[in-house]
Amino acid sequence: MRKTVKPYWVIVIDFELLQNLSMKIVIIGGVAAGAKVAAKSRRLLPDAEISIYTQDTHVSYSACGLPYYIQGNFEDWRKLIVRSKEEFEKSNINIHIRHRVVKILPIDKKIIVKNLENDEQFFVNYDKLVIATGSVPRVADFQNKNLKNIFTLKTLEDGIAIRETMQRVNNITLIGGGYINIELLEAFVKNGKNVTLVERAPFILSVFDEDIASLIQNYILENCSGLVKIITDDIVSEFLGEDTVKGVLTAKGSGFETEMVVISAGVRPVVDIAEDAGIALGITGAIKVNSRMETSINDIYACGDCCEKINMISNTPVWIPLGSTANKEGRVAAVNLCGGSEDFEGILGSAVTRYMDLNISLSGLSEKNAQKLGYDTVSVVVTKKDKAGYMPEVENITLKLVADRRSHRILGAQAIGCGDADKKVNSISIGLTQRITVEQLLDVDLTYAPPFSTSVDIIHSAARMLKSKLS
Ligand SMILES: Cc1cc2nc3c(=O)[nH]c(=O)nc-3n(C[C@H](O)[C@H](O)[C@H](O)COP(=O)(O)OP(=O)(O)OC[C@H]3O[C@@H](n4cnc5c(N)ncnc54)[C@H](O)[C@@H]3O)c2cc1C
Repeated sequence: MRKTVKPYWVIVIDFELLQNLSMKIVIIGGVAAGAKVAAKSRRLLPDAEISIYTQDTHVSYSACGLPYYIQGNFEDWRKLIVRSKEEFEKSNINIHIRHRVVKILPIDKKIIVKNLENDEQFFVNYDKLVIATGSVPRVADFQNKNLKNIFTLKTLEDGIAIRETMQRVNNITLIGGGYINIELLEAFVKNGKNVTLVERAPFILSVFDEDIASLIQNYILENCSGLVKIITDDIVSEFLGEDTVKGVLTAKGSGFETEMVVISAGVRPVVDIAEDAGIALGITGAIKVNSRMETSINDIYACGDCCEKINMISNTPVWIPLGSTANKEGRVAAVNLCGGSEDFEGILGSAVTRYMDLNISLSGLSEKNAQKLGYDTVSVVVTKKDKAGYMPEVENITLKLVADRRSHRILGAQAIGCGDADKKVNSISIGLTQRITVEQLLDVDLTYAPPFSTSVDIIHSAARMLKSKLS
């Protein structure tokens, strides 16, 4: 007799998928990196429980826009908010502002959170934890540093306070000559303020080589309507005043009156809770991560300013905190913690800023940094028109190109000019990522028409000069 086989369903349970769907993702910090992790994770895992804990009053804002808010380019600081708490909550992402994470307990997969409004502490469990605690300004132990009208610029509140104070004063001191203070210098000069900038190094913007930094410094002094004084090779040692700052003394004995000070003398990564939890730090002092943004402890990721990066040219660890990098790292962390696979290859430290009409940009290694890393460098500095000389809006660009004598590999580019200096650096940074040589750069087919460049682009002029120097 023939047996009848009853049909039946086989149910296969994908436990990993189920786990991912109900995964509890906890993120510490919510500005650039943390906000990116939350948004990307939500797109990848629509049912995961996602929470951001931040001691800040806002999430997802553009600190990079603060100097332009202070300058008065726009009136409402809310324009700096990329995505509000309410918008995150509409995507079912829990936002806990004014909540500081005080401890990570990796064995229990918990964190301890302190509500800064009422000082209450509580535990929160996680399946995956992301540390995006960023960086904070470094403030040396100046005497009287707690006087009123002495600021650092990091948060929205800092920006609001600096703008409000700037409007009431005439004499301002900037400590440090990095990107942020160059942007503030423009803001203050455009508002008609007298500014004294004090820089420890021989030139401002010391990430650039001195030949380029000195050109930037000269441009600033020539384009400030006599409002700017730059003191280099010196440091501020003491602030004077009873309640509000009234003056500044430097280590070399300069003294001058001031009504307001902004200290932007570098930043440091926020690693205290990570270090306390036993997470490995790198040689730069920032959190060590692999290319998947994983820390040394399972299921804990780190991204943004708090973690160390790999320099793509030298393949060595570096700490260059930038918003552009924080966003990319946040995305990679999210993909991996949600079960995918993506790598973050490293950085070139590509950056751009401006003072008035002067665009200032660099990518890769400066010559001095390349030499510190042991490269035998060859470099050229070329100044050329940015478009055909007969075009009405023609401007000069100065480009410095650095190469390795042995391999002929391009190591870095620095460009300044009232023309499109940053576009030149961006083009070269694609080549830097691909590790191209001077000869290969000469083979790149660049565009030309009179309103856009010269028939021989400055990139090719510089590469041609480098090639002849190398041979
Ligand atoms: C004025 C200014 C201009 C800038 N301009 C540029 C620019 O033009 N281009 C560019 O690429 N970059 C720029 N940057 C740098 C850029 O803003 C940062 O690289 C970027 O914000 C880093 O993002 P992040 O999320 O890693 O860290 P952060 O922005 O530092 O955010 C970290 C957050 O974590 C919170 N946090 C820290 N510890 C805890 C804790 N224990 N518990 C809870 N919360 C915690 C902090 O309060 C903070 O809100 C600028 C920065 C400033 C200040």
